[in-house]
This record gives sequence, C-alpha cells and structure tokens, in this order.
Amino acid sequence: MNLQDYAHGNKLFKSYFKKNQEALLHLVTTGQSPKALFIGCSDSRVIPDMMVQSNPGDLFVIRNVGNFVPPYSPDEDFHSTASGIEYAVSILKVDEIIICGHTHCGACQHLYKTIEDDSLVHTKKWLELGESAKKSAILSLGNNAPKEELLRLTEKLSIMNQIENLLTYPQVKKRFEDGSLSIHGWYYDIETGNIDYYNGETYEFLPLKDLVNKSK
Ligand SMILES: [Zn+2]
Repeated sequence: MNLQDYAHGNKLFKSYFKKNQEALLHLVTTGQSPKALFIGCSDSRVIPDMMVQSNPGDLFVIRNVGNFVPPYSPDEDFHSTASGIEYAVSILKVDEIIICGHTHCGACQHLYKTIEDDSLVHTKKWLELGESAKKSAILSLGNNAPKEELLRLTEKLSIMNQIENLLTYPQVKKRFEDGSLSIHGWYYDIETGNIDYYNGETYEFLPLKDLVNKSK
C-alpha cells in the first residue's frame, strides 16, 4: 500500500462515517462504553471488528505479539498490556474479556526457534509468555510430532495460559469471582474465518457459529 491507497481507503471510510454519523457522534458526546475487552495478536491477518462484525464503540482492543498476557507484576517498568487490562476492567467496566489466539501464529512458531539476533531483545523476552504452552504441547504430542500439529496445539494451549495470567490481576479475579466479568478463549482460523470458543464444561474448542443456530 502507498499513501494514495491509504487516502483512497480513508475516502471510502468517510462515506461510512457519514452514513453512521449519528451513532458515531453519539459515542463522542456520551463517551465509549464497550462491552468487551478483546485481546488479540498484532498479526495483520487478525481483524477483530471484521471477524465479528462489531461496530465502533463495541470492542476495547489490545493487540500484541502472540496475544499474550503478562502476569500481574506492578513495578517501575512500562506495561502496555497490563495498563489496557486495568483500564478496561476498572474504568470502562467491560462485561467480558476475550482472549483470541489464531492459527499460523508467528509468535508460536518462533517459540520453536532460537532467537540470537540482538535486535530482537524485547521479542525474545516477550515470547517467554508462550513457553508454558510449548512445553505442554510437547508433553502431549512429543517432540517428533508433525510440526503443524504441535503448533496448532501450542496456539490453543497458549490461550488457556493467557487466561490463567489474566486471573493474576486482582481486579480481574475479583470481578470474575463475583460474576460481573466473563472470560472467553477464542481461536481464529485464518484459513477459513471460523472462530472456535473454549467450552469450560467439555474442555474443548467448539465452533462459535453453532451458537447462532442454538439461539434461533
Ligand atoms: Zn499471532
């Protein structure tokens, strides 16, 4: 894409803006009140609002490499993801948190590679947040399992690990336990556009689209 492409895109967007001006300006005067915090990967193929056809004002979005959630660790460092979680849970008071992993995640692939490049010092540290998922996937399938199987399982297990990390945040834990906050694990397939959700009763990822049929 070049600058002209962006200009053309923004021109098209302005016609959307004009058509929905009332709702969009209402969000300006009343302020945002999103129902959900969406934590997804920075991967350019993951497109939160398009995936669920949500509108401006619906999702408060945090994106980072691997859709990881660092455990609660208040110190003097700068914590982008933690600050976004706090803001969503304590100020915006979202009802739901969605942790959305995806297939063919570059972060999960790099868990199986050695990073020696000094220019990736932060990435190397950040990927430690996926190490537990890698360990569990290898324990389950073995190191000689087909690479793609290992990766798919790592991506799914990581979602569960990130939910565990999410619960180390005192306000998240408090609101989760008093029932005012739900937490969902989603797995987006970039090959089909399908989303699977984690079902805590059956311990499996099930197609989100099946919930549409059930409600009709
Ligand atoms: Zn990814």
